[in-house]
Amino acid sequence: MTKPTQLQVEAIKDGTVIDHIPAHVGIKVLKLFSMQKSNERVTVGLNLPSSALGAKDILKIENVFINEEQASKLALYAPYATVNQIEGYKVVRKLELELPSQVRGVFACPNSNCITHGEPVESQFNVVEKKDSIRLKCKYCEKVYSREVVTEL
Ligand SMILES: [Zn+2]
Repeated sequence: MTKPTQLQVEAIKDGTVIDHIPAHVGIKVLKLFSMQKSNERVTVGLNLPSSALGAKDILKIENVFINEEQASKLALYAPYATVNQIEGYKVVRKLELELPSQVRGVFACPNSNCITHGEPVESQFNVVEKKDSIRLKCKYCEKVYSREVVTEL
């Protein structure tokens, strides 16, 4: 099977390619990694045609390699994204995305009465996987939210 979509965004020499991000999530992933503040060259492809997703976003970040912790945060936004590490225009490593069991300090609790809003407390969620859906349970107010609700904020 040929993959013509791979040529929709120019190849990079060294860095990270995050592919198969659901459409409209690419910008959030950029912010998650503070890439919009980076001085490295970042190529963003939005709403590219994808046979699997219908439309997808793709990010290519030069000279930046994301670590396991960042990959587990990415898994919350885009569980089916693929992360390729590129060196000398070749894929040298594929990072497996694994859902973290906990996520701290990334997302705000959607419950406005939650103690994490009034106090200098770092947000913390337990990640619960049920059938096809991923849910996050706030450690403090114990409310459970779908992944989409929490990552939308
Ligand atoms: Zn809460």
